[in-house]
Amino acid sequence: MKRAFLLILGLFCSMCLPACSAFGAGETLTEREPSQQEFFAMDTYMTFSAYGEGAGQALREAEEEIYRLESEWSVTDKGSEIYRVNHSGGMPVSLSDDTAEIIRFVLDMAEETGGALDPTIYPVVSAWGFTTDENRIPSQEELQTLLGEIGYDKVELDGNLIRLPEGMELDLGAVGKGYAGDLAAELLKENGVTSALLDIGGNIQAVGSRPDGSGWRIALRSPFGEGQIGVLEVSDCAVVTSGNYERYFVGEDGREYGHIIDPETGYPADNGTASVTIIAEEGKTADALSTSMFVKGLSGAEEYWRTHRDFDMILITEDGHIYITEGIESSFTLNSSFANMELHVLETAADE
Ligand code: ADP
Ligand code: MG
Repeated sequence: MKRAFLLILGLFCSMCLPACSAFGAGETLTEREPSQQEFFAMDTYMTFSAYGEGAGQALREAEEEIYRLESEWSVTDKGSEIYRVNHSGGMPVSLSDDTAEIIRFVLDMAEETGGALDPTIYPVVSAWGFTTDENRIPSQEELQTLLGEIGYDKVELDGNLIRLPEGMELDLGAVGKGYAGDLAAELLKENGVTSALLDIGGNIQAVGSRPDGSGWRIALRSPFGEGQIGVLEVSDCAVVTSGNYERYFVGEDGREYGHIIDPETGYPADNGTASVTIIAEEGKTADALSTSMFVKGLSGAEEYWRTHRDFDMILITEDGHIYITEGIESSFTLNSSFANMELHVLETAADE
């Protein structure tokens, strides 16, 4: 079974490679071209760029790290840890530290988002054919049966030991790339890299700033087709987008069905959201939130942001509104060709 390709990136970086501001004008990173590593892993294209001495070797190690994580987390690779868990017949399985940690994280986020994120949703994603590219519309009955068998709260994790009830399957698709970005960034920093940009199939992981101290300029792709909605200037953080325009099919009924499933209904999330971009310190958080805020839609996502506030968000609705949280108001620039869209800033109410 082959997972569908994710060829179109939700985001891509404008690689105008400049400098580093908040990060010390005194630093002596060489101003030459960055070292680059391009490869295909985790079903997507990745481009890693880094500046400075030893950057090339560090990037090659980061690439190896991604392959290692892929081989641990793949749902389809028979040698992976996740495959072992999914075919354990209800018996306990001992996990490596990295895998135990990401599963613990995703279960915590599932709880925190009220189940909008659910790593056990895989059988439903499969029923819609998103794991094979042979898409179909499952019947209500089939979905109800599948939904009765899933649920993140049925997963037992105790230290590095996991037990998954027979028939259930775990899928780290919604957070794996974000977490892999964190680990790759960590590895680069351990190797002395202070300025790098990792593009993980549209997930962006920024290490430090550009060598001259200015922020990285990240272009946000329009969820409506061609063009870039705007540019976001960031340093030392992750920028992750989820949208149904990345992977969807048109059913026999003429409707579009996307690959992000609302675990409450078993149907693709269809709440008027075109895309959600999350800006957070860590890639795993940004990835988990981009998927779950897409499921929640505008009102649910806004409410979640108000009660957490440890991330920023750009939510674009299908009817042409852009909502951004106040933390990025000054670092986001709307592209003039999208000036017809209405920009709203979500602010923390004074009395909160
Ligand atoms: P992508 O990885 O395609 O950039 P996401 O991070 O939003 O986008 O992850 C979407 C993937 O996560 C889907 O392809 C599917 O495998 C899985 N998924 C879909 N809906 C959910 C959900 N509600 N919770 C957890 N995983 C989901
Ligand atoms: Mg995600």
